This record gives sequence, C-alpha cells and structure tokens, in this order.
Amino acid sequence: MTEDERRLALGAIAAEVRDCTRCRLHETRTRAVPGEGDPSTEVVFVGEGPGFNEDREGRPFIGRAGDLLVKLLASIGWQRSDVFITNVVKCRPPENRDPLPDEIAACSAYLTRQLEILDPAVVVTLGRFSMARFLPGAKISQVHGTIRPADPETGARNALVLAMYHPAAALRTQAIERESFDDIAGLPGALVASRDRRGEAPESVSPPPTVPTMIGATPTIRSVEPADIDQLTLF
Ligand code: URA
Ligand code: SF4
Repeated sequence: MTEDERRLALGAIAAEVRDCTRCRLHETRTRAVPGEGDPSTEVVFVGEGPGFNEDREGRPFIGRAGDLLVKLLASIGWQRSDVFITNVVKCRPPENRDPLPDEIAACSAYLTRQLEILDPAVVVTLGRFSMARFLPGAKISQVHGTIRPADPETGARNALVLAMYHPAAALRTQAIERESFDDIAGLPGALVASRDRRGEAPESVSPPPTVPTMIGATPTIRSVEPADIDQLTLF
C-alpha cells in the first residue's frame, strides 16, 4: 500500500467510527475518537479508551495522560506525530469506567482493520485492556517493559509488542512513572529488533543525525532504496 492509500483507508475507518452505533457507548459520547498519526509509521500505541478531554475534541491522548505520553516519547527523542495513537474502544465510557467485554468486542474490528493497514513493526500497549488484546493472559506487573511477538490475529501481522503501564497509572504513582520511562527506553531497540525479524533494512534516521536529541531508531517511512543502504546509520 502506498502512503496515500493508507491515509485514505484510515480515513474511511475514522468516518465509520464517528457514525458508529454498534455499542451503548455511542449514546453517551460527545465525539468518537478513531485515532491519529503518521499513516506510514512503524509504531502504533494502543490505549484503553477516550477520557473527558478526548471525548470533547475527538482526538486521542490530549489530556494529562497525553501530556505524559508526549514526555515519554520525548525521552527517546520521538514526537507524537512520528507514531499512530489509538484505543481499544473509540468512545468514552461514562465516568471513565472500564470498558465492558461486549463494548470491547463490538469495537474490536476497527482496531484490527487499523492495524492491518498500518502493518506496524511495534505495537506499544498502554494499560491492561490493550495488553490483554495482544498478550492474552499476561499480567501487566510481570510483562511491562518486555518485548514479545504479537498474535497476528490482532491485525498486527508481524509485530513485536512492548507492554507498558497506562500513563494515567503513572500519573497516580511515582514508582510507575519511573518504570514507564525505563520501559519506553526499550522502544528504539524493539523497533530495530522487529525490522530485523521482518527482514527490513535499517532505515535512515529521521530527523537527520545532526539533530542533537536523536537517541535511537526513529519510526519513519518504510521504503529504502537499496542504493541508500550503505549510508544508513543507527545509534
Ligand atoms: N486514556 C486512554 O486510554 N486513551 C486516551 O485516548 C486518553 C486517555
Ligand atoms: Fe462503535 Fe466502538 Fe464507539 Fe462502540 S465504542 S459505538 S463499537 S466506535
């Protein structure tokens, strides 16, 4: 798929989500939150569901949890526009309660289709509900910060999963915040490992290596001309 094709296909899903009435969450939402980001990214972040601010604006992770997510990304030299960010359920559960199993099931096909289009090298799960989808049966206290292959049934057909705590949990508990910075430090390495598993050549770093904040592999467009490979550097 070309970048334009991916953008169009993701836009079609977003339009469906905005009008969706497949579960009761549509009754109480202000705006559905399909997700957003770079259609050619190699890295997808999956949260739980929209909160108060996200429901008002129709965009994922724009409240306090989003601010922390941006800081976590900045700690490895990345920006939110480098990745794609979405959620397990696309409409806000009332009072931010946990999403119910039938709501997760009703919304599931949207996330699966987004992942099929994006074909990410790495999926970062934020919190228990997202982790449960990619690593069924896992316990977050045990698997956070670890990297495991994704079940291809999820739509991520050849990805590694980095499980992390939900940023809202990190906002509540300092020890979890510290662990979250440790956990995300493993993300550039997970991306390099996944490219390797996928048989993809290391790509030119972006932004260019002259940018002082550059720390590791950055997610970027996927195609590399063979002639460029000699000039590529990582780390
Ligand atoms: N929490 C989530 O899980 N997702 C959002 O989009 C915002 C907060
Ligand atoms: Fe549709 Fe998902 Fe919103 Fe439920 S949460 S109404 S399934 S988009």
